[in-house]
Amino acid sequence: MNSKDLFERSKKVSPGGVHSPVRSFASVGGTPVFFQKAEGAKLFDVEGKEYIDYCQSFGPLLFGHRHPDIAGVVRETVETAWSFGACEPYSLELAEFITSKIPWVEKIRFVNSGTEAVMSALRVARASTGRNKILKFDGCYHGHLDALLVKAGSGLAGLSSSDSAGIGIEMIQNTLVLPLDDESSLEALFQKEGEQIAVVVIEPLPANYGLLIQRKEFLQKISMLAKNYGALVLFDEVISGFRVGFQGMAGELGIEPDLVCYGKILGGGFPVGAYAGKAKYMDLVAPSGPVYQAGTLSANPFGMRAGLASLKKAWNENPYKTLEEDCRYFTGELASLLDRYTGLKWQAICHGSLFWFKEFSETPVRNLTQIPKGHKENFARLFHTLLKEGIYLAPSGYEVGFLSTVHTKEILNETLNKAESGLKKEYSK
Ligand SMILES: *Cc1c(COP(=O)(O)O)cnc(C)c1O
Repeated sequence: MNSKDLFERSKKVSPGGVHSPVRSFASVGGTPVFFQKAEGAKLFDVEGKEYIDYCQSFGPLLFGHRHPDIAGVVRETVETAWSFGACEPYSLELAEFITSKIPWVEKIRFVNSGTEAVMSALRVARASTGRNKILKFDGCYHGHLDALLVKAGSGLAGLSSSDSAGIGIEMIQNTLVLPLDDESSLEALFQKEGEQIAVVVIEPLPANYGLLIQRKEFLQKISMLAKNYGALVLFDEVISGFRVGFQGMAGELGIEPDLVCYGKILGGGFPVGAYAGKAKYMDLVAPSGPVYQAGTLSANPFGMRAGLASLKKAWNENPYKTLEEDCRYFTGELASLLDRYTGLKWQAICHGSLFWFKEFSETPVRNLTQIPKGHKENFARLFHTLLKEGIYLAPSGYEVGFLSTVHTKEILNETLNKAESGLKKEYSK
């Protein structure tokens, strides 16, 4: 069994050979690695080669692969029940745990993905305000729901164009798009259409097109304008929730959203999403209110129990400060190696345990248009250099990397040594 053969077979039975596009290596070239096993910080491919994993399933694995504390409850779940489609105590415990720790989460509804969470939260916002328009920002990803697969058309909101085929214009005609980091566009748009906007949706830490760290003032401005015009604010914390800190970016910034979405870490590696917020909004959801939303496998015991084990562990052990320090150390050292060997000057952008490498720029990169030219190609070469040495990054220059608690100093230093030997070989050619 090898990756090349498996990929050829996969292409015959699934579009592009994958079940989510970025996995295909389309952005970096070459054949995707097929993995068979994982443990801690390590991945093992079908040919038995070992990799140090900085993708971590795109974020859900705060404690690495198959952490014993989480594996334990997963085994118990196998012995008790896989799914009821009925009431059970596990989702209650997880809901109580989260609502007791995050003040702006008074009520929460579990779903099966981040996409589903955002889609449902928008429905609540529209029902609550009786308005139709949604404002989003270019450079934020919110899953693949129709209404948010849009990009700014001519750079002006109101002229949005779809980011995907198969989305009727009627699905996006109420979606307004603005650039990140731009208060004056925001003010102008609110002046013009503020009273028709149901909700402003934003990743408070945009981490799906690189890591575009926003100024606190920009997020405060959104919050203030929304309030003045009667629009809601939805923080999409699917990637940042329980990752930058237990309370996510909202907690870090001290900005309370009206609605919030979680996913990724929330399910401890199982498919779980959630939308949540103040009771007055969440009580609009069926069966207590008129907003319909349902799910056959919602609040599945695997996700609920693995999620609770992960969140309890995060709350009790509070690994965030150490993760951030380790992330700064690791990315700083790696950036110096890149500078030394690649003939380019690099920059490591870090927030908590999320990181992103790009070519150095004098001014901070806070929106899409500021990402340096040639980034995709520079990253692709780096990606394959590291992959050869057994270091696995997410296979796209626009995806961030993640540290988990199993990336010990030894693992980080092992990575740096491997990276150096790979860089020496590749870039001295
Ligand atoms: C990953 C992600 C989503 C989508 O979640 P899925 O579980 O992949 O549907 C939505 N928003 C943000 C910010 C994400 O990072």
